[in-house]
Amino acid sequence: MPLKTNHPEKKTWLPVPVNSDFPIQNIPFGVFLTRDDIITIGSRIGDYAIDLGALHQLGYFKDIPLTDDIFLQDTLNDFISDGKKTWRLVRNRISEIFDITNNVLKNNDDHKSIVLFTMDEIEMQLPVQIGDYTDFYSSKEHATNVGKMFRDPENALLPNWLHIPVGYHGRSSSIVPSGTAVRRPMGQTLPTGADQPIFGPSKLVDFELEMAFITTDANVLGEPIPVDEAENYIFGMVLFNDWSARDIQKWEYVPLGPFLAKNFASSISPWIVTLDALEPFRVGSPVQTPKPLPYLQQTGKKGFDINLEVSIKPEGGKATTVTKSNFKYMYWTMAQQLAHHTINGCKVNSGDMMGSGTISGPTPDTYGSMLELTWRGEKPLTLEDGSTRKFIEDYDTVAITGYCQKDNVRIGFGEVSTKLLPVFQPKKK
Ligand code: CA
Repeated sequence: MPLKTNHPEKKTWLPVPVNSDFPIQNIPFGVFLTRDDIITIGSRIGDYAIDLGALHQLGYFKDIPLTDDIFLQDTLNDFISDGKKTWRLVRNRISEIFDITNNVLKNNDDHKSIVLFTMDEIEMQLPVQIGDYTDFYSSKEHATNVGKMFRDPENALLPNWLHIPVGYHGRSSSIVPSGTAVRRPMGQTLPTGADQPIFGPSKLVDFELEMAFITTDANVLGEPIPVDEAENYIFGMVLFNDWSARDIQKWEYVPLGPFLAKNFASSISPWIVTLDALEPFRVGSPVQTPKPLPYLQQTGKKGFDINLEVSIKPEGGKATTVTKSNFKYMYWTMAQQLAHHTINGCKVNSGDMMGSGTISGPTPDTYGSMLELTWRGEKPLTLEDGSTRKFIEDYDTVAITGYCQKDNVRIGFGEVSTKLLPVFQPKKK
């Protein structure tokens, strides 16, 4: 089935601001609360949110096999379960409805008043009920930097790293959408030089610049997904800030890996951009030496050229861009991650989320965490207001943006923007 939605010349009758992340070629999916306090599944073109539940009730999706209530839900899980063929039919139809040559909805003011919302009339929600969340560690530059800092600069990568997309199982209960503030965590740390741990607020709260992909039901228990089929089970991608407490992490991570340093909060952008929308932005991924084992050997271009940026904004101040990276730097691809995840027969469900791991590029201005940007705090960054940062301070807002650009088409993700609040203070009795 051709991807009719991607044509770079395609235009819509809705106004789309210059450099919008959401031209008619994007057509992402999300969940929002309307001005009437109704939760619906929607899409977005320019600065308009489109109520897909209302469009379906008005008959705009007739002849596409969808249940009546598929969009009248508070998560995308069931729609994602319908599979790639249905996602494409629906995206193609939305693209037709809003095409500049199609007057049916354009000339129906009653329908438009039901279907369209401006962005300030809605509140974005978590787009999926995330069943399981897995976080990988797939940027060679990031793994090398961390290895140099905490282990042996001469042998920065652990022996397994070039053979396995290393990952761990995270916690879905603390994943929140953009705009939800998160709290600095309390925890145990071992101060430098001390031989006993102390308890208190984390002093080294960090962001991790990541992306994540959302899966559909992929397999039955016991059956792996082949690497060259894996992308068929990926619905789309979001921006992902995997908040981390470096001091808690350093003390707790031996021998079972990340735990409380990672599961206090993880933030995602609310619009899921489909792999179909990202198709024109495929690029080759880094050459893998040594060659991976056969079950991880992929063909074709499995990387994606997605420009990523992180800014820090102090309370009441201006945002300062602190890094610019790109998803194309990922050593292990999403296809390899999903193939590896299921090679033992592990079942993957609709709405599962897989984080890429921190996405660092080759140069210091492309690193994906404060840990690397300030090299453990040894080289603080200076923000535009003159203040310095080793890590993230209370009331700072960290925002990640991301977009692809080619042939005058820009497909973006919007942003994931999160304020860090001070530690929780119990009310005095
Ligand atoms: Ca992470």
